Amino acid sequence: MSEPVVQSGPSSPKVGFVSLGCPKALTDSELILTQLSAEGYQTSKTFAGADLVIVNTCGFIDDAVRESLDTIGEALAANGKVIVTGCLGAREGESGGNLVRQMHPSVLAVTGPHATHEVMTAVHQHLPKPHDPFVDLVPAQGIKLTPRHYAYLKISEGCNHRCTFCIIPSMRGDLVSRPIGDVLTEARKLFDAGVKELLVVSQDTSAYGVDVQYRTGFWDGRPVKTRMFDLVRALGELAKGYGAWVRLHYVYPYPHVDDIIPLMAEGLCLPYLDVPLQHSHPAVLKRMKRPASGERNLERIARWRELCPEIVVRSTFIAGFPGETEEEFQDLLAFVEEARIDRAGCFAYSPVQGAAANELADPVPAELREERRARFMAVAESVSTRKLRQRVGATMQVLVDAAPGLGKKGGEGRSYADAPEIDGVVRLLPPEKISKTLKVGEFTKARIVAAEGHDLLAVPI
Ligand code: SF4
Repeated sequence: MSEPVVQSGPSSPKVGFVSLGCPKALTDSELILTQLSAEGYQTSKTFAGADLVIVNTCGFIDDAVRESLDTIGEALAANGKVIVTGCLGAREGESGGNLVRQMHPSVLAVTGPHATHEVMTAVHQHLPKPHDPFVDLVPAQGIKLTPRHYAYLKISEGCNHRCTFCIIPSMRGDLVSRPIGDVLTEARKLFDAGVKELLVVSQDTSAYGVDVQYRTGFWDGRPVKTRMFDLVRALGELAKGYGAWVRLHYVYPYPHVDDIIPLMAEGLCLPYLDVPLQHSHPAVLKRMKRPASGERNLERIARWRELCPEIVVRSTFIAGFPGETEEEFQDLLAFVEEARIDRAGCFAYSPVQGAAANELADPVPAELREERRARFMAVAESVSTRKLRQRVGATMQVLVDAAPGLGKKGGEGRSYADAPEIDGVVRLLPPEKISKTLKVGEFTKARIVAAEGHDLLAVPI
């Protein structure tokens, strides 16, 4: 259960909060928690100790649906007053109607994702807000569920694509880009609050601004276009003043992404791209209706590497998509090798209720999907290990995530090549100099001495 610290008066009503799902859901949770705190609600660490519980759900894959439904059940059993929000809240049940309501008819309210206002309306109805002038003192950056030194920055909501395996657009709607001035203002507040790594997230970061025809917005009294390039450049310039990192997630390989790579070479954002490719074979990509499926991804990635040789590419893939032949799968294996994907994740295809892909011909049997996933991971891991080994002997800048006892006995951090939660880490040995200390949220230089699995081992210098 999430445990944000909220200062409040002794008699303030208490809300329990559970945040499940992806970073986009996490930012929704942060908005709700910020609003709760602004209005003077306290948070409770237990269901039983709360006056009401909010569950922010995930509805992406069947395991996530199960976890969300179980959590709602637990909250109902232990507390009884439960408000449900998030992606699962927008899903229909098998016989139509709302899935959450069908499974748990006694929940107080159900909303879809990105619905702070609706959630707060339900909270006001079932747990009227307290009157305490002192509790409006919320930190300027809002309530964050991440450690103090990194934060997710959501730049848009929803998605204009209709990938056949995905039901996110039916839950979150079409793309709505946040005004660029708001995004940059939030970024500055986060840096002011001590954030050293900003992770830009959305469903499709490369599409930022498409919905508003790249409208010119304003920030700091100057015009800035609502467009990926302009956003990344402005974020990078801002981050520079704070000595902080900007990392880009969910970037599709459109031609205009080539323009971002020089910004990486200039040091305005990390030379790291999270590009969810899902497959390599044109026929599979077509069946998936993937964005940028007509692009030549191999050439595109090769070009990126030419422009910025240190670039790290992370991607996710699906093995055993309906109709995938052995030949198409072999194409995927060859792609991962040739594109030298640094960090790859792979799911065995799993049908999601309501997804168009369920109707496609020639489903791949479950065992074969799993077998292909395992074969894929073996190849991807050997590519990744090879690349990690090449770093041995290099000196890298590492952001410290953990350093018990000031790091005298070592700690843990990440280099530009490692996003939090999804990639490996840099395990830090005791510093070379006895006088050197490590602090969470600060950078240290470290000499890489070994590669172990997905991680690197390094000596702080
Ligand atoms: S790009 Fe495709 S997978 Fe991603 S949210 Fe949009 S529809 Fe879903």
